[in-house]
Amino acid sequence: MTTAWERPQAGALFVVSGASGSGKTTLLKRVFARVPGLQFSVSATTRGIRAGEADGVDYHFVDIPTFQRLRDQGDLLEHAEVYGRHYGTPREPVEHALGQGLSVVLDIDVQGARQVRRSHPSAVSIFILPPSVGTIKDRLVTRGTDSAEVIARRVREAEEQLSACGEYDYLVMNDDLETATQVLEAVVLAELSRTSRRARWVKLFA
Ligand code: 5GP
Repeated sequence: MTTAWERPQAGALFVVSGASGSGKTTLLKRVFARVPGLQFSVSATTRGIRAGEADGVDYHFVDIPTFQRLRDQGDLLEHAEVYGRHYGTPREPVEHALGQGLSVVLDIDVQGARQVRRSHPSAVSIFILPPSVGTIKDRLVTRGTDSAEVIARRVREAEEQLSACGEYDYLVMNDDLETATQVLEAVVLAELSRTSRRARWVKLFA
């Protein structure tokens, strides 16, 4: 991406899902480094913090009563229980960024994606596919952050998540990291090049 990239006047809401171990987090970090003007939505979760994660950066790590309060006050754009823990997207930062013309990326599960599609029909949904279910297991084991029991549950739930991939606008196969990064970047850039988001150029040239 060159520095001549101009942000669109109207941002997009990107919903990215993919099973744990699909390489989604790595892929997203690479696209963030390449496309300026994307804002990552930091979710609230009741799961414990992992090594290498920072509170307020990767997640807002909260206790169950705090999560329930946020949910009951309507402060979450969507929420779901994933792997026995609560996860939810704080509403205000997303609405604020979209209001400013920025684009927002939500890294959320299939249940959350369904809720966002209902509340924001123009959201662009992308599913990251692993080359195989076996790859998911290998990646979770290599990551070394989860116990054998947690890994077994995550593989089962990964299969469930995968079965919903047909609901998404775009599929990105993450068999080769660089190729997958290019495909995801292409989807993001194409969506941000929609005429409906480029009022300035229409006014300038049309
Ligand atoms: P992890 O605990 O491995 O970071 O994430 C587990 C799963 O929860 C991932 O599939 C991730 O996309 C999903 N997730 C993370 N944040 C949210 C959220 O705010 N809402 C929903 N519905 N899912 C989330």
